[in-house]
Amino acid sequence: MRVRTPSVPYPLTRSSLSVRVRLAPSPTGTLHIGTARTALFNWLFAKRTKGKFLLRIEDTDKERSKPEFTHNIFEGLKWLGLNWDEDPVIQSKCLQAHRAAIQLLLDKGLAYRCYVNESELDELRSDQKKQGKAPRYDNRHRNLSLQEEDNFINEGRTSVIRFRIEDNQSINWNDLVRGQMQWNSSDLGGDMVISRRAYGKEIGDPLYNLVVVVDDSTMGITHVIRGEDHLANTAKQLLLYQALNLPIPEFAHTPLILNAEGRKLSKRDGVISLNDFREMGYTSEAMANYMTLLGWSVPEGMSERFTLSEASKQFSFDRVNKAGAKFDWDKLNWLNSQSIHELSPESLLENLKPLWLKEGWESPDYEWSKDLTELIGPSLIVLKDGVDQARPFFEEPSMKADGVKQLEVEGAKKVLKKLIEKLEKSPFQKFDNAQAKALLKEIAELEGFKQGLIMKSLRAALLGTMKGPDLITTWGLLARVGQDLPRLRRVF
Ligand code: GLU
Repeated sequence: MRVRTPSVPYPLTRSSLSVRVRLAPSPTGTLHIGTARTALFNWLFAKRTKGKFLLRIEDTDKERSKPEFTHNIFEGLKWLGLNWDEDPVIQSKCLQAHRAAIQLLLDKGLAYRCYVNESELDELRSDQKKQGKAPRYDNRHRNLSLQEEDNFINEGRTSVIRFRIEDNQSINWNDLVRGQMQWNSSDLGGDMVISRRAYGKEIGDPLYNLVVVVDDSTMGITHVIRGEDHLANTAKQLLLYQALNLPIPEFAHTPLILNAEGRKLSKRDGVISLNDFREMGYTSEAMANYMTLLGWSVPEGMSERFTLSEASKQFSFDRVNKAGAKFDWDKLNWLNSQSIHELSPESLLENLKPLWLKEGWESPDYEWSKDLTELIGPSLIVLKDGVDQARPFFEEPSMKADGVKQLEVEGAKKVLKKLIEKLEKSPFQKFDNAQAKALLKEIAELEGFKQGLIMKSLRAALLGTMKGPDLITTWGLLARVGQDLPRLRRVF
């Protein structure tokens, strides 16, 4: 028997049938970067084909699934701008349909109860290991007689339900990313468990491959787009589609995300969840842009900087790479800094405000915050930099080595003394850059100080270090909150 999924045109993808794709996350953790990228590809394909992007929350692992993770997944998708078209399907609510499918397979003789217990399975696996064979169930309970079944039940054994996988079938499909795929059914580990253990003749909790086939089919999914770690599952699911006599969708398996060493991105790389990136100060625009580039290459003439809406007009699977996509921090940082620099001061401030509030910083007024945002904005790579760079405007900075050194330069303290005198006599009513420059010039001319010495010493006194943004604007911002004179005075 050969299992085939015809390549296009396939009945399900006829133009009369509109595209329906889905993201099927398990709410057992926060939104993973790989899942977010899968979501993007699904969404882009749906938009490109004027189809629908759907969500299914795969919450059948009762112990590990948590409502807060579902919430986090929704929030992460919304943050990226990936809105879904129908109410999310909650997998645990479809149990009836899953059980009905298992019952159908049992009735057709395509599935059976297997009473092999864990220690027998362990023994089988260790024998196979000794012989250098891959672990594989040996289908030993395929043809039990009713009497044999009863004996096992009377012994108090539990059973799983296994789906029959005949050996040496060629399973083929035309993958939209990877092209013609072929699996030998003998490499799928023997008859597949489709429900967890249960007593007697009960049906235990249905398992992933069975459940996905039933749900995808119920939801009318036309294209299953997911990570390449699901290739073997696809082979198994194709057998189930056939056994259940369900229409087979198209499949697209997207490449894995790799770290700099070429290994699958993992917890050890410090970041795996979309939250991590959000907390580090990456913008949703840059993240969506960068994740799309993780596996998809832009067509000739298209810039690598794009909005999701622009990408959705160009997206196609023939530009999705088969090879793993290496995570490139430099590129992400570049995209992020570009996206920050493009924000208006008002929206940048909107992004920075919550970060400042977290530090306990209250801005004196809106104009002041906006001017500060304008001053530091051009040097931000991630939003978090906007905390480090705003800090000396909210908190008195300590003296750093380079600042201390500058204040020891001959004449530095004299300059600052003069400046204090002047400011005490006639403090700025309203800080004005031109007036401030004129004041510095006056000191330079009258006292014969070099302009460079004045500027450097003022910077050291105000910021405690020689690094920082434009000095006059910095001075102005500090003067407006009455912080310039105290910082000059503390030098003495
Ligand atoms: N819940 C599965 C996962 O998160 C879904 C895989 C699929 O798309 O079929 O990996």
